[in-house]
Amino acid sequence: MSRRNLKYIVGNWKMNHKLADIKEFFTTFSQSRAELHCHPWIAPQFIHIPILKELAFTLGNIQVGAQNMSHAASGAYTGEISATALSDMGIPFVIIGHSERRNQFKEDNELLSKKIKLALASDLQAIYCIGETAIEFEKGTTKEIIKEQLHQGLSGISDCHKLLIAYEPVWAIGTGKVATPKIAEDVHAFIRNELAQLFTSANEIPLLYGGSVNPENISGLLSMPNIDGGLIGGASLKAKDFLSMCHQARPFARS
Ligand code: PEP
Repeated sequence: MSRRNLKYIVGNWKMNHKLADIKEFFTTFSQSRAELHCHPWIAPQFIHIPILKELAFTLGNIQVGAQNMSHAASGAYTGEISATALSDMGIPFVIIGHSERRNQFKEDNELLSKKIKLALASDLQAIYCIGETAIEFEKGTTKEIIKEQLHQGLSGISDCHKLLIAYEPVWAIGTGKVATPKIAEDVHAFIRNELAQLFTSANEIPLLYGGSVNPENISGLLSMPNIDGGLIGGASLKAKDFLSMCHQARPFARS
């Protein structure tokens, strides 16, 4: 079965939610009886992963993953979490290179490449985030930046069967300024072409869009042929909105 048959609705909870909020989220979620025809994934804070896994287990197909991991395999890295530890704990996916990691923690393509390699070697699904800043967008250098992030971040990787890419224009993250479906699709098609230079099965790699996605704008984005899902911050925190986006994520016919 193709990895792109169902859309991905990936909630990035960042450093939000207390235990009570998480319980409320799942109480609301469990009240919806309608079946979901998508991949609902959530990445909470590390410490909340076990409790989310337990709550999500009773609801069926929600996968709970990590927002980040270490660039090193093991050893003296106080405060870090390794790919092996994630994999050992049965965590199925990890987000790598979110723009907040790139900007605030100075993670560059070279370091992110190490993380992707370790994640894939540990059998984790890796969501590699790429995207241009507002200045780069205005200068018209979006594709140049994306190309560099793809080729440098994915250099030396030959197996893409656990790789996903999230295109997240930095100017759209948390700003309410979503890219139009046309702009997002144009970049996604470009990404797929670039991936085809690196992998023979590039057509199987799910490509997600992220940046101010919400229940009102998701359907237009998901109707685009190269957009296989959303990486969603703010709008994923409320069960009602997350569920609404999951329900809108029906499989679309692809030519
Ligand atoms: C994100 O954090 O990946 C994101 C896209 O955030 P938001 O949906 O809030 O813009």
